Amino acid sequence: MKKRKQKQKYTRRTYKYQIREHPKNKRLGNMLDDLCDVHNHFLKLENRYYRIYGKYAGRYRLQPHLTKLLEGTHKHWAWIPRDTLDAVLIRLHLAWERFFDFPNEGRPKFKRKDRYRSAKFQSGYKLEAGCVRISFKEWDAPSASLKFNKRWFSFHQHRDWKGNVRYVQILRDSVGTYWLYIVTDNSTAEPYPATGQSVGIDFGMETYLTLSTGEKIQSPEFLKQSLTELRKLNRSLSRKVKGSGNWWRAVHQLARLYRHISHQRRDWHFKLATDLCRRFDTIATETLNLAGMKRLWGRKVSDLSFGQFVEILAYKCFKHNRAFRQAGPWTATTKPCSDCGHHNENLSLSDRQWTCPECGSDHDRDINAAINILRAACDPVVEQM
Ligand SMILES: [Zn+2]
Repeated sequence: MKKRKQKQKYTRRTYKYQIREHPKNKRLGNMLDDLCDVHNHFLKLENRYYRIYGKYAGRYRLQPHLTKLLEGTHKHWAWIPRDTLDAVLIRLHLAWERFFDFPNEGRPKFKRKDRYRSAKFQSGYKLEAGCVRISFKEWDAPSASLKFNKRWFSFHQHRDWKGNVRYVQILRDSVGTYWLYIVTDNSTAEPYPATGQSVGIDFGMETYLTLSTGEKIQSPEFLKQSLTELRKLNRSLSRKVKGSGNWWRAVHQLARLYRHISHQRRDWHFKLATDLCRRFDTIATETLNLAGMKRLWGRKVSDLSFGQFVEILAYKCFKHNRAFRQAGPWTATTKPCSDCGHHNENLSLSDRQWTCPECGSDHDRDINAAINILRAACDPVVEQM
């Protein structure tokens, strides 16, 4: 099996803006629905090609085929900019390549229209203050050809983007709001003044983060906070006739609440990461086994979403010139005593406090682990022990 390529990270910065609600946004929805059709059509085609010829067709065989479709049987796709259509094929191609390299991650799937979320515009767009223009086309009957039918969409420009724009994306979320993503090549760091401090972080179920300084940070558990409201909405949804107007309204309300929770959580993660970056030069965490944790703990892990936090923390460390280190996945962090290195084999999961039988020092389980993580991540020799 191939090793995962080390992605060149953080050479792009994405700015997200909300597109103002307007009846003409329906056009964006139609576009995403058509792109979903393109995705499913070509996925089916590739599966068939494989059945007949026993090999993978590849995007360089499919792109000329797309040209033929646009001229012949699938003229109704031609109103979308060509590079946006091509981007669908490229994304599909990448999904296949990932499948060939990592077969147990699953093959590309057919998508439902409401799950197909984004469109990429490499060219065929223009940005002006608070507005984006998309170059759609329209069939012009008198000249019997496709003519440009450019459309403006206004978005809420709450901040300016920096750097050169590489491409833009249009996204539709589960609530039905459209978002504009502006991807720029801005990768400048905004360093914070050095503090000379390092910290190790231990993730936990009871306390969200335990720092090696002894500090404990609790998670606000946003999902739990909204659980009453969620139950209420779910109950009201189940009372409605499926497919009716009221049912759809309830579905919409539920989606809105879920989006609100995930926004709250993301905001808190960013604030927490910023706070840590301000205070410490070096930040060390353990490598998480998320799939295993989810099996063990269920919904609570999803609510805590350590994976998202680690991602945000790594990015913030890059942005503010902080060292971000991760201790290897097989490092023993809980059992060794952080004072003398004695492995306490008798330690069970329920022991929150323990005394080292060798040197007699008292330990808090999580703080001890955080100190071990910091040490293992900064000193590779210890890690091998
Ligand atoms: Zn000890």
